Amino acid sequence: MESSADLEKFKLAVDNAYDHIIITDSDAKILYANAAATKITGYSLQEMLGQNPRLWGGNMGKKFYEDMWKIIKIDKHTFHGEVNNIRKGGRPYTAEVSISPVLNDKGEIVYFVGIERDITREKDIDRMKTEFVSLASHQLRTPLTAVKWFIEMLLDGDAGTLNDEQSKYLRNVYQSNERMIELVNSLLNVSRIESGRIIVEPSPTNIASLVNEVVSKLKPTMAEKDIKLVLKIEDNIPSIDLDQKLVFNVYENLLVNSTKYSFPEGVITLAIYKEGEFLISAVEDHGVGIPTHEQERVFLKFYRGTNVVKEHSEGSGLGLYLAKAIVESSGGKIWFKSEEGKGSTFYFSLPLSGMKSKSGEVTLSA
Ligand code: ADP
Repeated sequence: MESSADLEKFKLAVDNAYDHIIITDSDAKILYANAAATKITGYSLQEMLGQNPRLWGGNMGKKFYEDMWKIIKIDKHTFHGEVNNIRKGGRPYTAEVSISPVLNDKGEIVYFVGIERDITREKDIDRMKTEFVSLASHQLRTPLTAVKWFIEMLLDGDAGTLNDEQSKYLRNVYQSNERMIELVNSLLNVSRIESGRIIVEPSPTNIASLVNEVVSKLKPTMAEKDIKLVLKIEDNIPSIDLDQKLVFNVYENLLVNSTKYSFPEGVITLAIYKEGEFLISAVEDHGVGIPTHEQERVFLKFYRGTNVVKEHSEGSGLGLYLAKAIVESSGGKIWFKSEEGKGSTFYFSLPLSGMKSKSGEVTLSA
């Protein structure tokens, strides 16, 4: 800053910025706070100066702050994160935070600059959207199930014998209704995962038996396309504490996809093996593959490959999004490699140490 007029201009700009900005010394003692900081936290400038930002923060648990201090003090990098803070008077708020160290020419920390943006409203809106989808899909299930029952009764001849054409049309209606039920279930599961209300209930699991259950369920679908499934499950995989419903869903999703996107009479290989501290599962097919330029979008909600939408109109683009959410919340990773026209391999890892249990309100809907 050249002149004191420039400095004044600069100070005015920071004073009046929309985001909360504070400057502390290297011991986190507050030296400066702008108007937005007093507005967001509810503390006056006098109440803030000389204090520690714990005045409104400090509610995130020990590990969070240990990680934060390591980044800003030892690595001397900017920390970004989302924090739950408390305004003066006790009202909580959520903020997107970045804290950067300011170094002198010897590389020593002289100040920290903390910037917060209050995102409480955005979070609320997001939560309301999730709740709306959850409620709407829940309500939609009841009439769809009723439709299913009545079609089943008609097909069984409960209301008199149907001629071939009537049966054919009704089977089509039944199939469409089944797809709608699947879609509504996927939407419900996505909203349940996103709301963080899902119960995680790990129990000792023999992975080979779990996989066999999934395979039995999918046998008819695979048989329709003459798909051959090869299982390569490593010996001596220990029992792992897993939430079987969640992991079942991941295997089912990947195997359904590889069946759906394989050519008829294709071969799918499911390999399961240990690697370091993880159990890796790899589902390989030789089907249509995923176009290279779309690969970074594969795990996004509602993504559907441009090479599949015409022929497979029935997908929702929610399966992989859900699988990713399940795997990542279990401490694992999911990834893939794919070549258009040649095939794809989807991998996911789960910690051999197992999943952590979590109390919640709902489970996945099957
Ligand atoms: P859905 O299969 O219902 O469309 P997913 O979320 O499971 O939804 O998959 C998203 C998209 O990713 C699919 O529409 C398809 O384009 C692509 N995809 C997933 N798995 C495979 C696979 N094994 N081979 C080729 N494309 C795949």
